[in-house]
Amino acid sequence: MYHAWFAAQDDPNERYPLTEVVYYSRSGGLLEVQHDMAALAQRSPEEWKRLFDERWMRTAWPYGSGVWGKKEWVCPIVSDDNVVSMFEGGTNLFWAERFGREIGLEDLWIKMCGNSHTGSFKDLGMTVLVSVVKQMISEGKPIRAIACASTGDTSAALAAYGAAAGIPTIVFLPKGKVSIAQLVQPVAHGALVLALDTDFDGCMRIVREITANPDNGIYLANSLNSLRVEGQKTVGIEIVQQFDWEVPDWIIIPGGNLGNTFALGKGLLMMHELGLIDRLPRIVTAQAANANPLYRSYLTGFREYEPIKAQPTAASAIQIGDPVSINRAISILKRFNGIVEQATEQELADAAARADRTGAYACPHTGVALAALIKLVERGEIKRSDRVVVISTAHGLKFSRFKVEYHEGTLRDVVGQYTNPPIELPPDVDAVRRAIAQRFGD
Ligand SMILES: *Cc1c(COP(=O)(O)O)cnc(C)c1O
Repeated sequence: MYHAWFAAQDDPNERYPLTEVVYYSRSGGLLEVQHDMAALAQRSPEEWKRLFDERWMRTAWPYGSGVWGKKEWVCPIVSDDNVVSMFEGGTNLFWAERFGREIGLEDLWIKMCGNSHTGSFKDLGMTVLVSVVKQMISEGKPIRAIACASTGDTSAALAAYGAAAGIPTIVFLPKGKVSIAQLVQPVAHGALVLALDTDFDGCMRIVREITANPDNGIYLANSLNSLRVEGQKTVGIEIVQQFDWEVPDWIIIPGGNLGNTFALGKGLLMMHELGLIDRLPRIVTAQAANANPLYRSYLTGFREYEPIKAQPTAASAIQIGDPVSINRAISILKRFNGIVEQATEQELADAAARADRTGAYACPHTGVALAALIKLVERGEIKRSDRVVVISTAHGLKFSRFKVEYHEGTLRDVVGQYTNPPIELPPDVDAVRRAIAQRFGD
């Protein structure tokens, strides 16, 4: 009784089934997943809330997943047998009490999307995409493999979900530009791993060509494929649900290809349209200063936009100069009275380290979002009593080299303010006593 399909943005009558191999509309634009909102509106907001709360974190397949617990809103056309899930979503909200107090906030939370099977929020979208592919294969579609270009986390998620489903995967990585944890994940899951001597944007161009002809049976998993957005959009819905259906004042999210900014907004708008919430939060997209095409556009009031050549940043997953979802992210930011802020290498690394000192364990992208937060509080844009949620996009453990180099003092373009290198000593009690006294006094 619920239904969803791909629709062209410029012509809502141009529609395709979600199980068709199609990425672009006839005019060359991206396709959007549209839902039969009239059917969804048959249930009252209270009924939806009750249903989502009943399913939340239970084991009944597949509804205990944070994504599939909202299946009717996400991808109703997949049969439960074809769902490929690792019970993604349902990640905790970390109350950043000490960090918040230090920077002058009373109600700061970090949504820990990295506490997930492959260690990043990319699991939220990949479960939907791989499930639809499994459905397509079960219907006899000749799909041989799923492919993506990646800055690291997308390929880790694709390889894991593909392995769980028994579907071959191909990943294109910019050689030497992903962390060792991100490289080893697809290797371990048996993906065909192609490390190309280029950047993300270069990998993206190649994978588009490889997947351009649907007859060769290689399905494209990048976020220009809007199926992933449907899973990722649950993050905003979950945040509201976790606050007992109350909307926070601000949500801050790091952005590179900008699919996640769009997804966050899309989920919240769906809640608004179906009456589960009656106001919207403000959204802040945070970019690395070394990869900031959206920020530059924001400075022109979004009147102008130029792709750039992204420079190296420790926030490697957002080192993107020509974001696929630029237009749809801008439309979301306009709708949510949004702000775009940027963070230098120094600012993002110090913000992550400072959060770590208060019990978080922030990846560099989360560092970008936290640095943006600090600036907005200092400017008085975000007020002391505002409820703020920072979306942490990956687990800090995926970025050990970033943290080691920060504390060693060898991180590029950074002189850390919060370094805490280990102290090497002989096994001698007096030397140890001196080291303790130096830190804590006699
Ligand atoms: C993919 C990713 C992002 C950026 O998401 P976009 O949708 O590309 O804007 C941010 N942080 C991490 C850890 C990621 O893996």
